[in-house]
Parts: sequence; structure tokens; C-alpha cells
Amino acid sequence: MECKHAQSLIPQYLTDRLSPGELEAFIRHVEECPECYDELETYFLLNRALKFLDEENGTSYNLKSLLVKDLKAKKHRLARRKRRQKIWVAFCALSILALLAACLDAAGVLKFPYFPL
Ligand SMILES: [Zn+2]
Repeated sequence: MECKHAQSLIPQYLTDRLSPGELEAFIRHVEECPECYDELETYFLLNRALKFLDEENGTSYNLKSLLVKDLKAKKHRLARRKRRQKIWVAFCALSILALLAACLDAAGVLKFPYFPL
């Protein structure tokens, strides 16, 4: 991903509007590119600071660590999504195999042993 493109995605990152593919590429880029990380950090801090001012709850936050936590949470979410996709693909593959085996069995091509209960 080019720096210019990564930096153009910062507003969508901050408002959680990146697709999973965009989010993964974006995170990979900002973790490896100090210039884009700094840019993201600036916007992130500004965004969070404005939110906290709106809330006026008087709590102090370590804003820089919030970005690290935010990136970590989004990476975790992406990993969870990938695990679910892998399980779904495995489930579909097994379903297709079971259907194929049933068809071959019904057509008499394969003969599966039946075990009476
Ligand atoms: Zn960059």
C-alpha cells in the first residue's frame, strides 16, 4: 500500500468504515511505516481528545496507548474473522464431500458399508 493511499484511509479507520481487507492492509502498512503511523497517531489523538472533551468526565487517559490498544483490538477482530472464514470453508468442503459421497453411493459407483444399529 502506498503512503498516500494509507493516509487517505485514516478517516475511515477512525470511524471503523474500512472493509476487512482494507483494514488488514492498512494496519500492516502503518505498523511498518513510521511516517504513516505518526500521521495516524496525530489524527487518532485529536479524534479521541475531542471525544473526551465532549464527554467532560474528567478522566485522564493515556491517549498514545489507546492507539496501540485500538490497533491490537482491530487486528484481533481480523484474526477472529479469518478463523471463522476458515471454519466455514472447511464446513462447506465437508458438506460438498458428503453430498458427493451420497450421490456416488446412490448411483452405485461407490459402495459404503452400512452398519446396522
Ligand atoms: Zn506510509
